[in-house]
Amino acid sequence: MLPLPVLEQAGSEMTNYRGSGMSVMEMSHRSKAYISIFDETKADFRAIMNVPDTHEILFMQGGAWLQFAAVPMNLIGTTGKADYAVTGNFSNLAMKEAKKYGEIRAAASSEDRNHSYIPAQQELKISKDAAYFHYCANNTIYGTEWKYVPETSGVPLVCDMSSNIMSRPVDVSKYGLIYAGVQKNMAPSGMAVVIIDKQLAGKELPFTPTLLKYQTMIDTDSMHNTPPCYTIYMLGLVLKWVGAQGGVSGMEKIKRERAQILYDYLDGSTLFKGHAQKDARSDMNVTFRTGDDALDDMFAREAAKAGFENLKGHRAVGGMRASIYNAMPTEGVLKLVEFMKDFEFKNKLGRG
Ligand SMILES: *Cc1c(COP(=O)(O)O)cnc(C)c1O
Repeated sequence: MLPLPVLEQAGSEMTNYRGSGMSVMEMSHRSKAYISIFDETKADFRAIMNVPDTHEILFMQGGAWLQFAAVPMNLIGTTGKADYAVTGNFSNLAMKEAKKYGEIRAAASSEDRNHSYIPAQQELKISKDAAYFHYCANNTIYGTEWKYVPETSGVPLVCDMSSNIMSRPVDVSKYGLIYAGVQKNMAPSGMAVVIIDKQLAGKELPFTPTLLKYQTMIDTDSMHNTPPCYTIYMLGLVLKWVGAQGGVSGMEKIKRERAQILYDYLDGSTLFKGHAQKDARSDMNVTFRTGDDALDDMFAREAAKAGFENLKGHRAVGGMRASIYNAMPTEGVLKLVEFMKDFEFKNKLGRG
Protein backbone atom coordinates (compact mmCIF):
# COMPACT_ATOMS: atom_id res chain seq x y z
CA MET A 1 0.00 0.00 0.00
CA LEU A 2 0.96 3.60 -0.47
CA PRO A 3 -0.59 6.23 1.82
CA LEU A 4 -3.79 7.60 0.30
CA PRO A 5 -2.78 11.28 0.76
CA VAL A 6 0.41 10.52 -1.18
CA LEU A 7 -1.51 8.98 -4.07
CA GLU A 8 -3.93 11.90 -4.05
CA GLN A 9 -1.14 14.46 -4.14
CA ALA A 10 0.65 12.59 -6.94
CA GLY A 11 -2.67 12.54 -8.80
CA SER A 12 -3.22 16.26 -8.41
CA GLU A 13 0.32 16.98 -9.64
CA MET A 14 0.24 14.42 -12.44
CA THR A 15 -0.11 16.63 -15.49
CA ASN A 16 1.30 19.90 -14.18
CA TYR A 17 3.80 19.69 -11.37
CA ARG A 18 3.46 22.85 -9.28
CA GLY A 19 3.12 25.21 -12.23
CA SER A 20 6.04 23.76 -14.17
CA GLY A 21 3.70 22.96 -17.06
CA MET A 22 4.70 19.31 -17.16
CA SER A 23 4.52 16.03 -15.34
CA VAL A 24 7.44 14.84 -13.20
CA MET A 25 7.52 11.90 -15.61
CA GLU A 26 8.40 14.27 -18.43
CA MET A 27 11.16 16.24 -16.71
CA SER A 28 14.83 16.02 -17.61
CA HIS A 29 16.71 14.62 -14.64
CA ARG A 30 19.13 17.55 -15.08
CA SER A 31 16.39 20.22 -14.99
CA LYS A 32 16.21 22.70 -12.13
CA ALA A 33 12.71 21.55 -11.18
CA TYR A 34 13.76 17.91 -10.98
CA ILE A 35 17.07 18.54 -9.20
CA SER A 36 15.17 20.32 -6.47
CA ILE A 37 12.81 17.31 -6.07
CA PHE A 38 15.83 15.00 -5.94
CA ASP A 39 17.79 17.08 -3.44
CA GLU A 40 14.83 17.55 -1.14
CA THR A 41 14.02 13.83 -1.21
CA LYS A 42 17.58 12.93 -0.32
CA ALA A 43 17.73 15.53 2.44
CA ASP A 44 14.40 14.33 3.86
CA PHE A 45 15.59 10.72 3.76
CA ARG A 46 18.75 11.71 5.64
CA ALA A 47 16.71 13.54 8.25
CA ILE A 48 14.01 10.87 8.67
CA MET A 49 16.51 7.99 8.92
CA ASN A 50 19.02 10.11 10.86
CA VAL A 51 21.84 9.16 8.46
CA PRO A 52 25.22 10.46 9.69
CA ASP A 53 27.65 12.37 7.41
CA THR A 54 29.93 9.32 7.28
CA HIS A 55 27.28 7.58 5.16
CA GLU A 56 26.05 8.30 1.65
CA ILE A 57 22.51 7.69 0.38
CA LEU A 58 22.23 6.10 -3.07
CA PHE A 59 19.23 5.48 -5.31
CA MET A 60 19.92 2.42 -7.44
CA GLN A 61 17.82 0.53 -9.98
CA GLY A 62 17.18 -3.20 -9.89
CA GLY A 63 15.53 -3.46 -6.47
CA ALA A 64 16.88 -5.48 -3.56
CA TRP A 65 17.76 -8.43 -5.78
CA LEU A 66 20.41 -6.53 -7.68
CA GLN A 67 21.91 -5.55 -4.33
CA PHE A 68 22.28 -9.27 -3.56
CA ALA A 69 25.01 -9.12 -6.25
CA ALA A 70 26.18 -5.53 -5.80
CA VAL A 71 27.04 -6.07 -2.13
CA PRO A 72 29.56 -8.89 -2.69
CA MET A 73 30.94 -7.32 -5.90
CA ASN A 74 31.73 -4.12 -4.01
CA LEU A 75 32.65 -5.37 -0.56
CA ILE A 76 34.06 -8.89 -0.71
CA GLY A 77 37.32 -7.91 -2.44
CA THR A 78 39.13 -7.06 0.81
CA THR A 79 39.34 -10.69 2.04
CA GLY A 80 37.38 -12.73 -0.53
CA LYS A 81 35.12 -14.08 2.25
CA ALA A 82 31.78 -13.08 3.76
CA ASP A 83 29.38 -14.44 6.40
CA TYR A 84 25.59 -14.66 6.00
CA ALA A 85 22.84 -15.36 8.51
CA VAL A 86 20.12 -17.45 6.87
CA THR A 87 16.80 -16.67 8.54
CA GLY A 88 14.42 -16.91 5.62
CA ASN A 89 13.88 -16.92 1.91
CA PHE A 90 15.54 -13.66 0.90
CA SER A 91 18.62 -14.06 3.10
CA ASN A 92 19.10 -17.48 1.53
CA LEU A 93 18.75 -16.04 -1.97
CA ALA A 94 21.19 -13.24 -1.09
CA MET A 95 23.69 -15.82 0.10
CA LYS A 96 23.31 -17.94 -3.03
CA GLU A 97 23.86 -14.93 -5.26
CA ALA A 98 26.96 -13.90 -3.27
CA LYS A 99 28.51 -17.34 -3.78
CA LYS A 100 29.31 -16.31 -7.36
CA TYR A 101 31.78 -13.75 -6.06
CA GLY A 102 33.69 -15.31 -3.19
CA GLU A 103 33.78 -17.74 -0.30
CA ILE A 104 30.48 -17.46 1.55
CA ARG A 105 29.82 -19.05 4.92
CA ALA A 106 26.56 -19.44 6.81
CA ALA A 107 27.14 -17.67 10.13
CA ALA A 108 23.81 -18.96 11.47
CA SER A 109 20.63 -20.59 10.18
CA SER A 110 17.10 -20.99 11.49
CA GLU A 111 16.22 -23.60 8.88
CA ASP A 112 16.00 -26.40 11.49
CA ARG A 113 12.65 -25.02 12.70
CA ASN A 114 11.36 -23.72 9.37
CA HIS A 115 12.66 -20.20 10.05
CA SER A 116 10.24 -19.61 12.90
CA TYR A 117 12.85 -17.90 15.09
CA ILE A 118 15.87 -15.58 14.98
CA PRO A 119 19.25 -16.91 16.16
CA ALA A 120 20.62 -15.27 19.32
CA GLN A 121 23.82 -13.22 19.30
CA GLN A 122 25.86 -16.07 20.85
CA GLU A 123 24.75 -18.40 18.04
CA LEU A 124 26.27 -16.19 15.32
CA LYS A 125 29.60 -17.50 14.09
CA ILE A 126 31.16 -14.43 12.53
CA SER A 127 34.76 -14.91 11.36
CA LYS A 128 37.40 -12.21 11.85
CA ASP A 129 38.37 -12.45 8.18
CA ALA A 130 34.88 -11.89 6.83
CA ALA A 131 34.73 -8.83 4.56
CA TYR A 132 31.23 -8.28 5.94
CA PHE A 133 28.36 -9.98 7.78
CA HIS A 134 24.97 -9.95 6.05
CA TYR A 135 21.53 -10.42 7.58
CA CYS A 136 17.94 -9.67 6.65
CA ALA A 137 16.18 -7.56 9.31
CA ASN A 138 12.65 -8.74 8.58
CA ASN A 139 11.76 -12.06 7.01
CA THR A 140 8.81 -11.23 4.84
CA ILE A 141 7.73 -14.79 4.09
CA TYR A 142 8.16 -16.38 7.52
CA GLY A 143 7.05 -13.36 9.54
CA THR A 144 10.06 -13.00 11.82
CA GLU A 145 12.08 -9.91 12.66
CA TRP A 146 15.47 -9.33 14.31
CA LYS A 147 14.96 -7.53 17.63
CA TYR A 148 18.63 -6.76 18.11
CA VAL A 149 21.49 -5.38 16.04
CA PRO A 150 24.17 -8.07 15.69
CA GLU A 151 27.54 -7.31 17.29
CA THR A 152 30.28 -8.18 14.81
CA SER A 153 33.55 -7.09 16.51
CA GLY A 154 34.57 -4.76 13.71
CA VAL A 155 33.35 -6.82 10.73
CA PRO A 156 31.22 -4.42 8.60
CA LEU A 157 27.52 -5.02 9.16
CA VAL A 158 25.33 -5.28 6.04
CA CYS A 159 21.54 -5.47 6.27
CA ASP A 160 18.63 -6.03 3.90
CA MET A 161 15.86 -3.83 5.35
CA SER A 162 13.49 -4.10 2.37
CA SER A 163 10.46 -5.08 4.40
CA ASN A 164 10.80 -3.05 7.60
CA ILE A 165 12.69 0.12 6.72
CA MET A 166 11.20 3.31 8.18
CA SER A 167 8.99 1.29 10.53
CA ARG A 168 11.23 2.09 13.50
CA PRO A 169 14.37 4.10 14.38
CA VAL A 170 17.70 2.55 13.30
CA ASP A 171 21.18 3.54 14.49
CA VAL A 172 22.68 3.84 11.00
CA SER A 173 26.18 4.45 12.40
CA LYS A 174 26.35 0.77 13.42
CA TYR A 175 26.02 -0.34 9.81
CA GLY A 176 28.52 -0.53 6.99
CA LEU A 177 25.68 -0.80 4.52
CA ILE A 178 21.88 -0.92 4.55
CA TYR A 179 19.81 -1.59 1.46
CA ALA A 180 16.10 -1.84 0.79
CA GLY A 181 13.94 -2.35 -2.26
CA VAL A 182 11.51 0.56 -2.02
CA GLN A 183 8.23 -1.14 -2.91
CA LYS A 184 7.17 -2.46 0.51
CA ASN A 185 7.43 0.60 2.75
CA MET A 186 8.64 3.54 0.71
CA ALA A 187 7.56 4.00 -2.91
CA PRO A 188 6.38 2.23 -6.06
CA SER A 189 8.74 -0.47 -7.31
CA GLY A 190 11.80 0.08 -9.46
CA MET A 191 14.53 1.08 -7.06
CA ALA A 192 16.60 0.27 -4.01
CA VAL A 193 17.88 2.77 -1.50
CA VAL A 194 21.42 2.06 -0.30
CA ILE A 195 22.98 3.70 2.74
CA ILE A 196 26.72 3.11 2.70
CA ASP A 197 29.63 4.04 4.94
CA LYS A 198 31.76 5.89 2.37
CA GLN A 199 34.92 4.17 3.62
CA LEU A 200 33.65 0.85 2.25
CA ALA A 201 33.31 2.08 -1.34
CA GLY A 202 35.97 1.98 -4.04
CA LYS A 203 37.20 -1.58 -3.47
CA GLU A 204 34.93 -3.37 -5.95
CA LEU A 205 35.89 -6.43 -7.95
CA PRO A 206 37.33 -5.39 -11.35
CA PHE A 207 34.42 -6.71 -13.41
CA THR A 208 31.74 -4.84 -11.43
CA PRO A 209 29.38 -3.08 -13.87
CA THR A 210 29.73 0.70 -13.75
CA LEU A 211 26.17 1.19 -12.54
CA LEU A 212 26.69 -1.24 -9.67
CA LYS A 213 29.87 0.42 -8.36
CA TYR A 214 28.98 2.24 -5.16
CA GLN A 215 31.91 4.61 -5.74
CA THR A 216 30.51 5.64 -9.13
CA MET A 217 27.11 6.22 -7.61
CA ILE A 218 28.64 8.28 -4.78
CA ASP A 219 30.71 10.36 -7.23
CA THR A 220 27.74 11.07 -9.51
CA ASP A 221 25.11 11.49 -6.76
CA SER A 222 23.18 8.47 -8.15
CA MET A 223 22.98 10.18 -11.55
CA HIS A 224 25.57 8.40 -13.65
CA ASN A 225 22.67 7.65 -15.95
CA THR A 226 19.01 8.62 -15.82
CA PRO A 227 17.69 7.64 -12.39
CA PRO A 228 14.13 6.35 -11.76
CA CYS A 229 12.90 9.94 -11.52
CA TYR A 230 9.25 9.30 -10.79
CA THR A 231 9.94 6.68 -8.12
CA ILE A 232 12.29 9.13 -6.38
CA TYR A 233 9.57 11.81 -6.51
CA MET A 234 7.08 9.35 -4.97
CA LEU A 235 9.61 8.47 -2.27
CA GLY A 236 9.80 12.20 -1.54
CA LEU A 237 6.04 12.37 -1.01
CA VAL A 238 6.11 9.29 1.24
CA LEU A 239 8.90 10.85 3.32
CA LYS A 240 6.75 13.96 3.90
CA TRP A 241 3.94 11.66 4.99
CA VAL A 242 6.22 9.73 7.37
CA GLY A 243 7.37 13.09 8.77
CA ALA A 244 3.73 14.03 9.41
CA GLN A 245 3.20 10.75 11.34
CA GLY A 246 5.99 11.73 13.74
CA GLY A 247 8.89 10.30 11.74
CA VAL A 248 10.20 6.79 12.32
CA SER A 249 9.42 6.87 16.05
CA GLY A 250 5.84 7.79 15.16
CA MET A 251 5.78 4.93 12.65
CA GLU A 252 7.12 2.56 15.30
CA LYS A 253 4.32 3.40 17.72
CA ILE A 254 1.69 2.92 15.00
CA LYS A 255 3.08 -0.40 13.72
CA ARG A 256 3.42 -1.85 17.25
CA GLU A 257 -0.21 -1.15 18.04
CA ARG A 258 -1.34 -2.37 14.62
CA ALA A 259 0.51 -5.69 14.81
CA GLN A 260 -0.41 -6.24 18.47
CA ILE A 261 -4.13 -6.25 17.63
CA LEU A 262 -3.56 -9.20 15.31
CA TYR A 263 -1.17 -11.06 17.63
CA ASP A 264 -3.49 -10.62 20.64
CA TYR A 265 -6.30 -12.16 18.64
CA LEU A 266 -4.09 -15.03 17.40
CA ASP A 267 -2.96 -15.79 20.96
CA GLY A 268 -6.56 -16.17 22.08
CA SER A 269 -7.77 -18.04 19.01
CA THR A 270 -8.50 -21.75 19.11
CA LEU A 271 -8.58 -22.01 15.30
CA PHE A 272 -5.56 -19.99 14.13
CA LYS A 273 -1.99 -20.45 15.23
CA GLY A 274 0.94 -18.08 14.58
CA HIS A 275 4.01 -19.41 12.75
CA ALA A 276 6.73 -17.28 14.35
CA GLN A 277 8.08 -17.82 17.84
CA LYS A 278 6.71 -15.04 20.07
CA ASP A 279 10.02 -13.27 20.70
CA ALA A 280 10.76 -13.14 16.95
CA ARG A 281 7.40 -11.94 15.65
CA SER A 282 7.44 -9.45 12.82
CA ASP A 283 5.34 -6.30 13.04
CA MET A 284 5.23 -6.13 9.23
CA ASN A 285 4.23 -9.67 8.20
CA VAL A 286 1.98 -11.77 10.42
CA THR A 287 2.01 -15.47 9.49
CA PHE A 288 -0.58 -17.95 10.77
CA ARG A 289 -2.45 -21.10 9.85
CA THR A 290 -5.31 -23.32 11.00
CA GLY A 291 -3.34 -26.56 10.70
CA ASP A 292 -5.71 -27.79 8.00
CA ASP A 293 -4.59 -26.94 4.44
CA ALA A 294 -8.08 -27.12 2.98
CA LEU A 295 -9.41 -24.76 5.65
CA ASP A 296 -6.47 -22.40 5.03
CA ASP A 297 -7.36 -22.31 1.34
CA MET A 298 -10.98 -21.66 2.14
CA PHE A 299 -9.99 -18.83 4.47
CA ALA A 300 -7.82 -17.16 1.84
CA ARG A 301 -10.58 -17.50 -0.76
CA GLU A 302 -13.33 -16.12 1.48
CA ALA A 303 -11.06 -13.33 2.69
CA ALA A 304 -10.32 -12.31 -0.91
CA LYS A 305 -14.08 -12.22 -1.60
CA ALA A 306 -14.51 -9.94 1.41
CA GLY A 307 -11.85 -7.60 0.03
CA PHE A 308 -8.80 -8.74 1.99
CA GLU A 309 -6.19 -9.18 -0.71
CA ASN A 310 -3.00 -11.26 -0.72
CA LEU A 311 -3.63 -13.22 2.47
CA LYS A 312 -2.44 -16.53 1.09
CA GLY A 313 0.91 -17.43 2.62
CA HIS A 314 4.01 -18.04 0.53
CA ARG A 315 4.30 -21.64 -0.69
CA ALA A 316 7.40 -22.11 1.50
CA VAL A 317 5.36 -21.84 4.73
CA GLY A 318 1.79 -22.33 3.56
CA GLY A 319 -1.04 -20.97 5.68
CA MET A 320 -1.73 -17.26 5.65
CA ARG A 321 0.26 -14.07 5.78
CA ALA A 322 -1.04 -10.60 6.53
CA SER A 323 1.42 -7.99 5.28
CA ILE A 324 0.82 -4.83 7.24
CA TYR A 325 3.40 -2.40 5.93
CA ASN A 326 3.75 1.23 6.95
CA ALA A 327 0.85 2.61 4.93
CA MET A 328 -1.68 0.06 6.25
CA PRO A 329 -4.20 1.87 8.45
CA THR A 330 -4.90 0.28 11.86
CA GLU A 331 -8.54 0.15 10.77
CA GLY A 332 -7.58 -2.43 8.11
CA VAL A 333 -6.25 -4.76 10.82
CA LEU A 334 -9.32 -4.27 13.01
CA LYS A 335 -11.51 -5.28 10.07
CA LEU A 336 -9.34 -8.32 9.36
CA VAL A 337 -9.63 -9.45 12.99
CA GLU A 338 -13.42 -9.08 12.80
CA PHE A 339 -13.41 -11.24 9.67
CA MET A 340 -11.17 -13.85 11.33
CA LYS A 341 -13.37 -13.99 14.44
CA ASP A 342 -16.39 -14.56 12.26
CA PHE A 343 -14.59 -17.28 10.28
CA GLU A 344 -13.45 -18.94 13.50
CA PHE A 345 -16.97 -18.92 14.93
CA LYS A 346 -18.55 -20.40 11.78
CA ASN A 347 -15.93 -23.05 11.26
CA LYS A 348 -15.94 -24.22 14.84
CA LEU A 349 -19.71 -24.56 14.67
CA GLY A 350 -19.40 -26.39 11.37
CA ARG A 351 -17.10 -28.89 12.98
CA GLY A 352 -19.58 -29.51 15.77
C1 LIG B 1 10.71 -8.12 -1.18
C2 LIG B 1 12.06 -8.37 -0.65
C3 LIG B 1 13.18 -8.52 -1.48
C4 LIG B 1 13.10 -8.50 -2.99
O1 LIG B 1 12.96 -7.21 -3.42
P1 LIG B 1 13.07 -6.82 -4.96
O2 LIG B 1 13.14 -5.33 -4.87
O3 LIG B 1 11.85 -7.34 -5.64
O4 LIG B 1 14.31 -7.39 -5.52
C5 LIG B 1 14.40 -8.72 -0.89
N1 LIG B 1 14.54 -8.78 0.44
C6 LIG B 1 13.48 -8.65 1.26
C7 LIG B 1 13.68 -8.72 2.73
C8 LIG B 1 12.21 -8.44 0.75
O5 LIG B 1 11.17 -8.33 1.58
